[in-house]
Amino acid sequence: MSPDCIFCKIANKEIPSNFIYEDENVVAFNDLNPQAPVHFLVIPKNHYSSLNDINDKKVFGDIFSAIPKITEKLGIKEYRTVVNTGASAGQTVFHIHVHVMSGREFTWPAG
Ligand code: AMP
Ligand code: ZN
Repeated sequence: MSPDCIFCKIANKEIPSNFIYEDENVVAFNDLNPQAPVHFLVIPKNHYSSLNDINDKKVFGDIFSAIPKITEKLGIKEYRTVVNTGASAGQTVFHIHVHVMSGREFTWPAG
């Protein structure tokens, strides 16, 4: 837990949020500022500032194995996953999170 981290507060239920998924290690909730009809974030309950900060490979499995469980529950088969690492890549919240977006066409390369 990092004291000033908003996602730690969400994961610890200090800030109310409607989790669309929760297990022992991760939670998922809808993005406050959705960029697609479906846009949720999956985060580990433990604090890691970014991808660069993860020192336990299990965390990747915890996050990415949760995603198909959530999309299946939502009836989604096609979706984009995004992890922004560092400010110049668009990271604004420094608690690692995977964006999962669906419900529209996505272009490539990403902007
Ligand atoms: P990033 O820019 O990759 O760090 O993504 C941070 C994301 O967190 C943005 O898409 C924000 O809209 C989202 N966000 C920030 N605060 C909250 C919050 N309290 N609840 C849900 N999503 C949030
Ligand atoms: Zn945190």
